Amino acid sequence: MTEVGIEHALLTAEEAAERWPGIRTNGPAMWHASAGVIDAQTTVRTMVDAAVELGAALFTGFTVASVTRSGAGFTVTATADSTAAVSVVNASHVIVAAGGFLPGLLGELSLPSGFLAALPTFEVRQEMAFHFPYANPDEAMDWP
Ligand SMILES: Cc1cc2nc3c(=O)[nH]c(=O)nc-3n(C[C@H](O)[C@H](O)[C@H](O)COP(=O)(O)OP(=O)(O)OC[C@H]3O[C@@H](n4cnc5c(N)ncnc54)[C@H](O)[C@@H]3O)c2cc1C
Repeated sequence: MTEVGIEHALLTAEEAAERWPGIRTNGPAMWHASAGVIDAQTTVRTMVDAAVELGAALFTGFTVASVTRSGAGFTVTATADSTAAVSVVNASHVIVAAGGFLPGLLGELSLPSGFLAALPTFEVRQEMAFHFPYANPDEAMDWP
């Protein structure tokens, strides 16, 4: 990083403990000027709002049960317990971004068997579907 002129500092474990009392490291820690913490919930909401402003239709409470081919496009069907105002959406293209939940959905996506067979085995090790709010948002921004 020094060679390519990226601002950073290599701290000993003691220096890191003094600078970030809430974090314990076993060895040296690197501080990088461009690194940071992003509030995941605000970020996602902001991006969704921006998409809606640009014309995207947003359906919340819509748990996808299946995606099936329908003419030149696709039909996306919600599970029976979905709370969205609609239960079926037709689209010319579908992007599945189910993250670690993908293995449970994969068999319902109307994908060619050869494609499915070629996929590597998924091993989901952790799923986290909630975020804690900052106890004190002002302090959260005060990263030393
Ligand atoms: C504890 C933890 C800490 C992390 N920390 C960091 C970090 O500091 N920095 C970093 O860069 N990354 C971090 N990650 C990784 C990061 O969170 C993931 O890489 C990222 O969220 C993946 O985004 P994604 O959109 O692919 O999937 P996800 O964020 O998992 O989104 C998938 C979405 O699909 C929805 N979904 C699933 N199935 C269905 C269905 N049938 N119908 C409708 N919706 C469905 C889910 O509800 C979810 O909203 C962390 C992950 C964990 C678990």
